[in-house]
Amino acid sequence: MSFESFGIEDLPIRDELRGKSPYGAPQLDVPVRLNTNENPYPLPEPLVERIAERVREAARALNRYPDRDAVELRTRLAEYLTRTGGHPVGAGNVWAANGSNEVIQQLLQTFGGPGRSAIGFEPSYSMHALIARGTGTRWITGPRDEDFTIDLPAAEKAIAEHRPDVVFVTTPNNPTGGAVPSETVLALYEAAQAAKPSMVIVDEAYVEFSHKGSLLPLLEGRPNLVISRTMSKAFGAAGLRLGYFAAHPAVVDAVQLVRLPYHLSSITQATALAALEHTDTLLGYVEQLKSERDRLVAELRAAGYEVTESDANFVQFGRFADSHAAWRKILDRGVLVRDNGVPGWLRVTAGTPAENDAFLDAIRELKKEQEQST
Ligand SMILES: *Cc1c(COP(=O)(O)O)cnc(C)c1O
Repeated sequence: MSFESFGIEDLPIRDELRGKSPYGAPQLDVPVRLNTNENPYPLPEPLVERIAERVREAARALNRYPDRDAVELRTRLAEYLTRTGGHPVGAGNVWAANGSNEVIQQLLQTFGGPGRSAIGFEPSYSMHALIARGTGTRWITGPRDEDFTIDLPAAEKAIAEHRPDVVFVTTPNNPTGGAVPSETVLALYEAAQAAKPSMVIVDEAYVEFSHKGSLLPLLEGRPNLVISRTMSKAFGAAGLRLGYFAAHPAVVDAVQLVRLPYHLSSITQATALAALEHTDTLLGYVEQLKSERDRLVAELRAAGYEVTESDANFVQFGRFADSHAAWRKILDRGVLVRDNGVPGWLRVTAGTPAENDAFLDAIRELKKEQEQST
């Protein structure tokens, strides 16, 4: 065997990883990038200064391991949740990690794993299935209605039949955009408890952009419910890698069994604390993005496209006979959107007004071109 042709398949990797592809949203160098639901606004300068200050302080103690339990950070996150989520939580209810992806990984390491299973209602966030695979958790694809809402009777039936150990509910859902009514989440929780009992993970990565409120109040009296959050979207800090969850303190105790010691660096903790000091400014950008999101919905419809209701900072639009070909044509006009593999549909992230104008110009041209060719 020559070393040039040596590849993954020649390594003794786990069978369930053979032939699989990694998560791979393209990181292309184009003028307008509206494909990964990032916040288009760079952090404001006073916050950048505050981060530098906090990080300088943390640097003086880098010879020491970080606070393993991130108590100050969890306290501030709990205050933020209490202030905005309609339900009081304390540091003991909150856990933080490197992005909500690591939060979900720790939850699956604790509640999933070999011999166990997790269900998600697809199309939804592809990382749930990928993290399940990485943790040896069997993945079950649950159904969704034609309009991309959760078909409750079908979902309840799937839970009763498969008796999964973990149930994922993404609200607002990515990539389709809509928020799930709290009655639906409640019914899914009841179904999951009747079947097993199992953990229900509500992924609220986009909740700050929603027309509806957070499902945090549902935590009351429901110890098997977890609400996961991130600073990657509303806080405009995707590069920071900070995710967190709120749940019964027993869930926080349980993930301690699998988290790596000192998983959250002093630098990360310092940066996140600085960002939380500027919550009000950052939530001001969220208001702008919500109105840009609503404008995208209105203008896409006016241009003759179909759009699914959006409670997030992105919009799913269609329909296309060949969505990948349409993705290409939009890219040829300098605008990168996301092809999530949902047949007929693409997803665009709300950017700055100028970026959204560039996208809308491209998409109107595309419509004209399609009309001329038919
Ligand atoms: C973007 C996104 C996340 C964020 O993941 P991080 O690891 O916190 O950056 C989580 N869940 C969903 C549904 C997302 O779309």
